Amino acid sequence: TMASIPTTMKAAQYSKNGGVEILQYTDVSVPKPKDNEVLVKNEYVGLNYIDIYYRTGLYSAPLPQITGREAEGTVVALGASTPGIKIGDRVAYLHESTGAEYTAVPAAKVYTIPATIAPGVAAASLLQGLTALTLIREAHYVKKGDWVLVHAAAGGVGLLLVQLLKAVGARVIGTSSSKEKLELARENGVEFPVNYKDDDVVARVKEITGGEGVRVVFDSTGKDQFDNDLQVVTRKGSIVSFGNSSGKVPPISLDVLAAKNLKLLRPRLFNYITTREEFERYTGELFEFITKGQLNVKIHETYPLADVARAHTDIESRKTSGKLLFKV
Ligand code: NDP
Repeated sequence: TMASIPTTMKAAQYSKNGGVEILQYTDVSVPKPKDNEVLVKNEYVGLNYIDIYYRTGLYSAPLPQITGREAEGTVVALGASTPGIKIGDRVAYLHESTGAEYTAVPAAKVYTIPATIAPGVAAASLLQGLTALTLIREAHYVKKGDWVLVHAAAGGVGLLLVQLLKAVGARVIGTSSSKEKLELARENGVEFPVNYKDDDVVARVKEITGGEGVRVVFDSTGKDQFDNDLQVVTRKGSIVSFGNSSGKVPPISLDVLAAKNLKLLRPRLFNYITTREEFERYTGELFEFITKGQLNVKIHETYPLADVARAHTDIESRKTSGKLLFKV
């Protein structure tokens, strides 16, 4: 009942952009759901690299800002117009301000978690899993036998992406910065691991593919690998640049694409799951992969929400593999 909902709550918040020191675990007001919203008591919150971009100011959001864009929890209150949702429903969702005990979420954004999905797994897989799925379906439809290069293959998105690519029969080359992370990537579907810190990526990819190059590159590093991408992609191939972990790709001339009739995409997950139909279809498919044991969601560590600064430090330090998760 509404009576059991407190008026204040703990939240991981920042009031200006900057380093991890600006993150505060502090008391704020519990939001009141609008007519089209439900109030979710969060149980698990996913950390994503986009949280770093918002904190540093690479992407902008109003201040003060409660960090986090992904969570799962229980519906504890309903707005006036939220058909199909009940108090007590276990839901997962992508929305702003998830790093708190409660979040008010538009009803159109919540997805009822199937009973087959264990606690924590929805918050650990929703954003990165939908990203991986839409990348291989919408950004570049990957086919059996295609040569594919995945950068940061041991990261959150990376480990899910390489498993899906293996499942569709692609031949996967994966990069990472350490031997241990590359071993994990190999266990999850990377046929040819390449250390992009120590090795010559262009030479290795040419060698592995017999000079042909790859049909598609999925690059979340941004500026560091972009020049390599142009060189390793085959004629008529695609470069899918979908992140900025090393910084934004500087402006380029379209002429660089003419050399091999390349396709260059810069997709955002949210523009692939804009309609309720798209969101439900991809989320349903993602949870089915997990239920059937076809997609392993590797958790790097489950942090208390109060340790938000440590989690941000860890993901930025490149020492993590798989998902960083918070227990609220
Ligand atoms: P990850 O768990 O993959 O962590 C980031 C990884 O990036 C690191 O582990 C590191 O792996 C690699 N990396 C490469 N260069 C750097 C650098 N200079 N500093 C820090 N890390 C670096 O994070 P996520 O899975 O959350 O996200 C992966 C990427 O995908 C991000 O760029 C993110 O923005 C993007 N993304 C984009 C989406 C979209 O809609 N377009 C949606 C979701 C994610 P290593 O040590 O192996 O180099």
